Amino acid sequence: MKPLLPGATLGVLGGGQLGRMWSHAAQALGYRTAVLDPDVDSPAGLVSHVHVCTDYLNAAGLAQMAAQCQAITTEFENVPAEALRQLGLTLPCAPSAEPVSVAQDRAREKAHFVNCGVPVAPHVVLHSMDDVNRVSAALLPGILKTTRMGYDGKGQVRVASLTELAPAWQQLQTASSPTVCILEKRLALAAECSVVLARGFDGQMVHLPLQVNLHRDGILAVTEVFAQALSPDTEQQAIKAAYAVARGLNYVGVLCVEFFVLQDGPDRETLGPLVVNEIAPRPHNSGHHSIDSCDVSQFALQVRCMAGLPLTTPRLHSPCVMLNLLGELWFANGTQASEPAWTQVLALPGVHLHLYGKTQARHGRKMGHLTITAATPAAAKAVALQTAALLGIAAW
Ligand code: ADP
Ligand code: MG
Repeated sequence: MKPLLPGATLGVLGGGQLGRMWSHAAQALGYRTAVLDPDVDSPAGLVSHVHVCTDYLNAAGLAQMAAQCQAITTEFENVPAEALRQLGLTLPCAPSAEPVSVAQDRAREKAHFVNCGVPVAPHVVLHSMDDVNRVSAALLPGILKTTRMGYDGKGQVRVASLTELAPAWQQLQTASSPTVCILEKRLALAAECSVVLARGFDGQMVHLPLQVNLHRDGILAVTEVFAQALSPDTEQQAIKAAYAVARGLNYVGVLCVEFFVLQDGPDRETLGPLVVNEIAPRPHNSGHHSIDSCDVSQFALQVRCMAGLPLTTPRLHSPCVMLNLLGELWFANGTQASEPAWTQVLALPGVHLHLYGKTQARHGRKMGHLTITAATPAAAKAVALQTAALLGIAAW
């Protein structure tokens, strides 16, 4: 593809914080940006040249994006793949509809990993109560997940034993037609990590340094990026698996591949040190640190991919810790929302505050993040712990 040069208009489906940071990166490179999102106050809509404020499948909205943009990307897990398919008829899309539709369905996603020869948690796809009744006890304790529309731990129920499975299945059924679910064996995790990679239209791939992630209540809480945080073998295996997953999808754009690192024990003996959990067909929360810690960010890579510009390997210039800022931090002093202690936090060295422009703080809502950079991992961690204490985030 002939590169789209600065001055062109690049479009994103979805107007959340990922779209906002993407828009900042695109504009820094001299592009105009357009956002499709039904919310008038969407974080990305507020900072883009054009905000098409319709539903994702609205014919007039899609026509306006097609007319204004020279390339399209997406930032939100559940933008219908059909919207990308329609725009893909006339415009380059990075990613295209097909890999996005795979990522939107946990069953297809798992099947793809298996096809790529990458280890996954033992699992079974459940279409009906009959399937539920046939489940083997070897998969328990497990986690029952809806195959579609889950994120941040939503649409999941922990199941300790076979007797809890049918009630859990019932709990996830909402519509009259069955909600397809996947039951995964619950693995004992030593750590969670992710690889954010970028793949160009020509197949060239680069990746961010491996990220080690801590989740709380199913939501990412802390990401640490230190050289050699995990063993070099495990790291190489994760990167190799991430590349295989991207190549197998003929993926173009930024892709995040999430992994579980297993504790020593029988699961690790059969599966190996690492299994793939899931993919996100876009920049990822665990890669936000790259804005402040790397010489090219995941958002700049997303812009380069869709514009057909060269990709360079991001170099981590500063060890870092990223802390998510969830809505509850606005309620540290009671029921009345108040701003967290930003002035005290910003007095600490190497603290980078990112707020997404969301006006309503709610429990579990991602309002912003902080990246703490330092000369050494120990220094980054020390300042991150100080920052967390000031804000009322639990230590880790
Ligand atoms: P989401 O789409 O909500 O991110 P995930 O499948 O990534 O859903 O699950 C959220 C978190 O729940 C994971 O990051 C991990 O901490 C935990 N988890 C999910 N599946 C398993 C599993 N099979 N074994 C152990 N922990 C799991
Ligand atoms: Mg996840």
